[in-house]
Amino acid sequence: MAKAKEKHQCCEEVRMDTTWPRYRQCSRAGSIERDGKWYCKAHDPVAIREKSEAKAAAWHAERDAERKQAENVIRLELATKAILATCQQLLDWQEANLVESDSLSNLLRDLRMSVYEFEQASK
Ligand SMILES: [Zn+2]
Repeated sequence: MAKAKEKHQCCEEVRMDTTWPRYRQCSRAGSIERDGKWYCKAHDPVAIREKSEAKAAAWHAERDAERKQAENVIRLELATKAILATCQQLLDWQEANLVESDSLSNLLRDLRMSVYEFEQASK
């Protein structure tokens, strides 16, 4: 019964606001016990680690999103160039009256792939 009312002080050392680094024990009440030592909520090593891991995960997710966006810009650019090249080829053939059905189906197949790639990268 006496143990339940026992008060603990956070064991963490905190730097004092002095010119030369000096430390004192954290004045807050220890509410969390880790390996026999008491910590306040701000100095709980598990909470500190979880917070830092969450921060790192968020940082990585942000970098991944940026990389994906940069890759999409390149994909869009390549697909746009391919579509324009195909259109130019069609116009050249039409101008020279050189449209053969085999060449035309190959070109249209390439065009379909480029348009698909463009649509995928636009999502
Ligand atoms: Zn503390």
